Amino acid sequence: MPIPGADLGAQYAPLREDLAATFARLLESTQFIQGPDVRAFEAEFAHYCEARHAVGVANGTDALVLALRALDVGRDDLVGIPTFTFAATAEAVCLVGARPVFIDIDPGTFNLCIEGLAAAVRTHGERLRVVVPVHLYGRPAAMDDILALAASVGAAVVEDAAQAHGARYRGRRVGALGRVGCFSFYPTKNLGAAGDGGALTTNDDAVAERLRLLRDHGQTGKYEHAVVGYNSRLDTLQAAILRAKLPRLDAWNARRRQIAARYAQGLAGLATVTAPTGAGESELVHHLYVVRCKRRDELQKHLTAAQIATSVHYPRALHQQPAFAEFATGQSFPAAEAAAREVLALPCYAELGDASVDEVCATIRAWETAAQ
Ligand SMILES: *Cc1c(COP(=O)(O)O)cnc(C)c1O
Repeated sequence: MPIPGADLGAQYAPLREDLAATFARLLESTQFIQGPDVRAFEAEFAHYCEARHAVGVANGTDALVLALRALDVGRDDLVGIPTFTFAATAEAVCLVGARPVFIDIDPGTFNLCIEGLAAAVRTHGERLRVVVPVHLYGRPAAMDDILALAASVGAAVVEDAAQAHGARYRGRRVGALGRVGCFSFYPTKNLGAAGDGGALTTNDDAVAERLRLLRDHGQTGKYEHAVVGYNSRLDTLQAAILRAKLPRLDAWNARRRQIAARYAQGLAGLATVTAPTGAGESELVHHLYVVRCKRRDELQKHLTAAQIATSVHYPRALHQQPAFAEFATGQSFPAAEAAAREVLALPCYAELGDASVDEVCATIRAWETAAQ
């Protein structure tokens, strides 16, 4: 049996009746924009994230853009980001006219390297307006050190939590550890809509207020435009679907942790494939289960032949992408560049069965034995 990289059909099956009723209710209501489900979802998601506010927006990329705009980041401001992340983290910086300062990652956690951030803080001082740690693969970044370094130059911290719905850092949910947290509800994220969606979380009342303005054309009232804003509202239909799914998120994340633990056991002792490091003080949500392998492309080919879907997040660091060449400065980021060559994401989603995990592990073991 082929093992897919994600299985949204399997996620849908137990939700079928719930979601069909939700669709029908929404179509009957005709409140497609800013309907009551948006407010209700925002309250429920804020509560879930242990944040004072959640603000729904059209997608996770917009969440990052609006977070920067809400903090008045603009032309030629500097924003520190890891160079090993999805492009949206850097795009948002560029789209508000600011400049990304690329920082290497920690090779063990794939998250922002603290020494790298300290160097950026020394080099740029108060020109560094914001730092954006990314909780990559569902693993919280080292927030205490990041918050302290950012505070030392008066920079705000915006969490890119698009891969980490529900993850905990030292007992607290990600999203409101810094000034603002940004989430994506792209369908394959840990909490996914039936299309695009996103949200921001914050404990700062003024920031929340400004985000609500920005997402709706900067309007303080109908046709009263206080600032240049965006059309970036969360659809009522998506909010209603997310409300139906949110109560299941903790169980889904717990299953992802079981799968990760089973992979860790099943892959232990291999010479060519390295499983990710343990959780430390965090509770991970394993958006992706990513191993390292020096012969990654060969291993991927072998798994593809065995009908096991894998993926590479990401095959290039952002400073290696043409889109961001202008900000690359010629500096090399060895940990990010090595990760781009070596990472491979194995199937990991709540509906994946133990037998499939065992099959993936056995297939990898057989490959290593044959390749010796
Ligand atoms: C998915 C993702 C985003 C962007 O989210 P969209 O909803 O697709 O715009 C941003 N950052 C990271 C790290 C992501 O994984």
